[in-house]
Amino acid sequence: MNNAKSPARAKMLDGAAVAEQIKQEVARDVAQFVSEHQVRPCLAAVLVGDDAASAVYVRNKIRACEEVGIRSEHHALPATTTATELLGLIKSLNGRGDVDGILVQLPLPATIDESAIIEAIDPEKDVDGFHPVNIGRLSMGHPTLVPCTPAGIIELLIRSNIPLAGENVCMVGRSQIVGRPMAQLLLQRDATVTICHSRTRDLPAVTRQADLLVVAIGRPGFIGREHIKPGATIVDVGMNKITDVEMVRQLFGDMAEKRLEVVSKRGYTLVGDVNPCEADEVAGRRTPVPGGVGLLTVAMLMRNTLNAARQRRGHA
Ligand code: NAP
Repeated sequence: MNNAKSPARAKMLDGAAVAEQIKQEVARDVAQFVSEHQVRPCLAAVLVGDDAASAVYVRNKIRACEEVGIRSEHHALPATTTATELLGLIKSLNGRGDVDGILVQLPLPATIDESAIIEAIDPEKDVDGFHPVNIGRLSMGHPTLVPCTPAGIIELLIRSNIPLAGENVCMVGRSQIVGRPMAQLLLQRDATVTICHSRTRDLPAVTRQADLLVVAIGRPGFIGREHIKPGATIVDVGMNKITDVEMVRQLFGDMAEKRLEVVSKRGYTLVGDVNPCEADEVAGRRTPVPGGVGLLTVAMLMRNTLNAARQRRGHA
């Protein structure tokens, strides 16, 4: 296999541009909300422990709040925090009239049961859309707070004029935060949805039927040319850090030198769950990593926080 000679044919879907557009729309709508209610929507972000990646995610979310005019609070708790203490904080945030959205950054330390914490959040303030009440509403096709990553992907597809109604769509991965809600949203848009997972038999035979292939499995470069229908659209949700020079060369072909520079600067580069070189040979369009889905997640969190504020404060 010589990836270096692979022609790049797939067109890139510009997640960064769509995320920027969404944030501008939210900023405009926040300004209108403030003029109607004389108060800013408020997001409370809760971070437990000192996981470096989680700290970066929370910082990015707080920065996005500043950009769109949403007030934010950052509750940073030590790794030794008990479930009872965390539940106490959630209870007080639930009870505060000035807090519209509550975000608990996952993963939590292993000593804390994540489900119990998610279920303690007031569903009206559950801006991640992970509470069983919101998941239930979503699967019934009712309007609700929807998980941010799949909601962002739908925005990207619609704004990029990718057809969904009647299309064969394959969702690879069935996690609570991406695969399952993504499948529900695609179904709401009248796609014919197949959900695959680690027990799916002959995965390439199934994914090759898909006009649109969405992948969220957490395996660097796993989806290759044999999985892709010629001309299909690929949404790559994966965000995997790779450090291995040979793997970088195999996955990035003639873009490898640039990526290797990133590795030598940062110690790693990011790759999705899709092999970019092989996808470029076969797919019609795909999302790049980084610059595809990641930024949309934060933009949709801003949208959800504004929607929660409108809902709670009786927006007409
Ligand atoms: P997860 O909870 O780890 O779930 C992975 C899913 O992939 C599971 O359903 C698993 O099947 C399936 N799977 C694993 N290996 C497979 C294989 N060989 N063939 C078919 N299916 C397979 O994953 P997640 O939280 O959804 O995250 C997935 C990726 O998306 C990660 O790289 C994560 O970092 C990234 N992510 C990115 C964003 C963003 O904003 N860009 C947001 C969330 C996640 P089983 O259910 O059978 O185990």
